[in-house]
Amino acid sequence: MKKDNFPFLRFPRELPRELNVPVRVLGYGEIHTAFTGEQITEQASRCIDCGNPYCSWGCPLHNHIPRWLELAREGRVEDAAALMHETNPLPEICGRICPQDRLCEQACTLETGFGAVTIGAIERSITDEAFKRGWRPKLDDVEASGKRIAVVGAGPAGLAAADVLARAGHAVEVFDRYEEIGGLLTFGIPPFKLDKKIVDTRRSVLEGMGVKFRLNTEIGKDIDFAALTQDYDAVFLGTGAYQFVDGKLPGQTLPGVHAALPFLIANMRRLLGTATAADVMPELLGKRVVVLGGGDTSMDCVRTSVRHDAESVTLVYRRDEANMPGSRREVKYSRDEGVDFLFQRQPLEILGNAKGVIGVRVGETRLVDDGNGRPRSELVPGSEEVLPADVVILAFGFLPEPPQWATANGIEFATNGKIVLGGAGRLPLQTTNPKVFAGGDMWRGADLVVRAVLDGREAAKQIKQMFAAQAATAEAVVA
Ligand SMILES: Cc1cc2nc3c(=O)[nH]c(=O)nc-3n(C[C@H](O)[C@H](O)[C@H](O)COP(=O)(O)OP(=O)(O)OC[C@H]3O[C@@H](n4cnc5c(N)ncnc54)[C@H](O)[C@@H]3O)c2cc1C
Ligand code: SF4
Repeated sequence: MKKDNFPFLRFPRELPRELNVPVRVLGYGEIHTAFTGEQITEQASRCIDCGNPYCSWGCPLHNHIPRWLELAREGRVEDAAALMHETNPLPEICGRICPQDRLCEQACTLETGFGAVTIGAIERSITDEAFKRGWRPKLDDVEASGKRIAVVGAGPAGLAAADVLARAGHAVEVFDRYEEIGGLLTFGIPPFKLDKKIVDTRRSVLEGMGVKFRLNTEIGKDIDFAALTQDYDAVFLGTGAYQFVDGKLPGQTLPGVHAALPFLIANMRRLLGTATAADVMPELLGKRVVVLGGGDTSMDCVRTSVRHDAESVTLVYRRDEANMPGSRREVKYSRDEGVDFLFQRQPLEILGNAKGVIGVRVGETRLVDDGNGRPRSELVPGSEEVLPADVVILAFGFLPEPPQWATANGIEFATNGKIVLGGAGRLPLQTTNPKVFAGGDMWRGADLVVRAVLDGREAAKQIKQMFAAQAATAEAVVA
């Protein structure tokens, strides 16, 4: 039979089936189903194996994408999953929530003109299927090293570090102040983007690899950090970025104004059945909700508000759509679900009284390109208007905050709150305490899951490098 060199012409780019909007807004289920086996084969066969895998370069983890697409095309699900795990400990999660349109798929040769290969959807579908068939990472040949490592933070950075260290035979204990693993994967990102059963499965996979989770345990409160550095051979910190960026808007303390993350966490805990009195979820039924900010968090807040039967949901952002940091895909899903976007509007004041919010005063902006990347927004004089609102959600972003227990133990932080890593005489992800490494949002500032994974993996490799150097020094002393 003649070889088909152009399957991408025969099979157009397809995404997994999307639930109808009226059905999906009734609940919190993921809005996409997985690909069927036939779809995986067809969509994976669209890869033209262009020789220079731009997609791998577009992926921060440099995943071996063309190679696992080939395995997927051949139906070798378990082999593809094993290859995925060589570079990514969370392929089922990244496949769901990476902004592929800005990373791997943007770099795909077919993107211009034919539509990129659906890399993310294949990645998640293959991993889900492999787990369903009982596939698990193989650690039979791994010998225990006798080293103990403490990981602080069970977010993607901590989980990635734990994966690499467990595969090297080290005993890993992961501490987290929350009741579940995942960090923002569980408590920030809503279930319509990432079903929490997926995180549960990953927990059982990691536990199967020997990783121990010590949850509801806050370092600095329940356990002294100094004790941790004494009791373990190395420590990895991945505590994230949780300091709310304060827009300092007049009226932001009025009843009816909520910060984005507590709002999303309260919602998630209600769904998990772990909410406490501190998890206050505002009543949104029939209310006019205005969300201020243009990142992924804002998009998660608007789509959550839709699911709480708000009368109207409006996202206000000071730049235009092209310069919005949030994912394009999420803008589409939000619009489909009935969210209004108001671009080039600067919030100036939240209006209301002791009973609550009545509106948000905004001004129009124009964009000024200073040649410094994203254009600056400038207020147009005399353009002010009031948007009626009953509930306002503030989603201006997050910054890392130096934990007191870390600074008290000689770990340095920059004035912007980010942990100081690397520098003279240190490995790139080593802190100013040589036993302690770090990465993820606490180093980069609020960023992406895939880059937190990258840091966790790299830091773990550097911990192994440190152990190897220590062993070599000890041998030299004996000799
Ligand atoms: C609402 C929202 C939506 C997002 N959507 C996306 C998306 O769609 N795609 C994407 O790629 N990225 C998204 N992100 C960003 C992404 O979630 C983060 O970049 C990523 O989770 C950072 O990982 P991390 O491991 O550094 O930190 P985190 O995920 O924040 O995990 C840190 C963990 O450390 C724990 N911790 C902190 N202090 C202590 C302590 N003292 N003791 C014990 N435990 C502690 C915390 O409880 C937490 O579990 C989103 C972020 C938010 C807020
Ligand atoms: S990890 Fe993210 S960027 Fe990398 S291949 Fe998967 S979806 Fe693309």
